[in-house]
Amino acid sequence: MNIVEKMEKKKIEEAIQKYLDVHGYERMAVKAAMFDMDGVLFDSMKNHAKCWHETMAHFGMDLPEWEAYMHEGRTGAGTINLVSMRERGCRATEEEIQNIYKYKSDLFNLCPKAERMLGAYELLVKVKASGVVPMVVTGSGQVTLLERLNRNFPEIFRKELMVTAFDVKFGKPNPEPYLMGMAKMKKWLDDRVLQPCNFIVVENAPLGVEAGVAAGVFTIAVNTGPLPDGALLSQGANLLFHSMQELCDEWEKVVSCLKASS
Ligand code: CA
Repeated sequence: MNIVEKMEKKKIEEAIQKYLDVHGYERMAVKAAMFDMDGVLFDSMKNHAKCWHETMAHFGMDLPEWEAYMHEGRTGAGTINLVSMRERGCRATEEEIQNIYKYKSDLFNLCPKAERMLGAYELLVKVKASGVVPMVVTGSGQVTLLERLNRNFPEIFRKELMVTAFDVKFGKPNPEPYLMGMAKMKKWLDDRVLQPCNFIVVENAPLGVEAGVAAGVFTIAVNTGPLPDGALLSQGANLLFHSMQELCDEWEKVVSCLKASS
């Protein structure tokens, strides 16, 4: 291992130690990795951001594309109301919310289907081979989601270990989706003593990082969008990589540190 690699490993070890100290755990024994979907597994955020910008402009409001990344994970109504309050000083009516959201969804459906994020499949194969179970935790609620995941990431995910919009009431930044993911894993393993330190979260959005951290889980940010690293680190991300490819390339180091601490 050269000096750069040693420094990188030290950074990972320190991040894990800090997490253990903050939460009062003696060690991590990671059994599962909970992956967010948009912006992590699929390169879909560019289309979402562009459609949000064009939709709001159509309704006379300004929502820059970069700002759409700040709202990533929020419900459609939540985003619309936030922008409406700022741009017009009032909330949107139910009818407006429906119209605006429908316009955005129609635009999005016209976009080409997002590609797999570079390095994502290779990372998932490595994760599985290292004895960590990959899971998906997403706010998305497309009915074809499982089929699409299985087509793009064959033999990686299990339906019973998946959390989607259909499973949760609140959505991110509420920790509920990740708490639900942990509950599903406990049930699947029939292991009631699993704790947050038996999991990791992989997220690309500030609100997603906030949700993972609020669930008490070691949260790895992958900054795949245009926001500064600080937007993710300030939400409490334990580690940050700049792409899924980078996390894939570093996985052996990450997992050896996670296992060394157990
Ligand atoms: Ca995301």
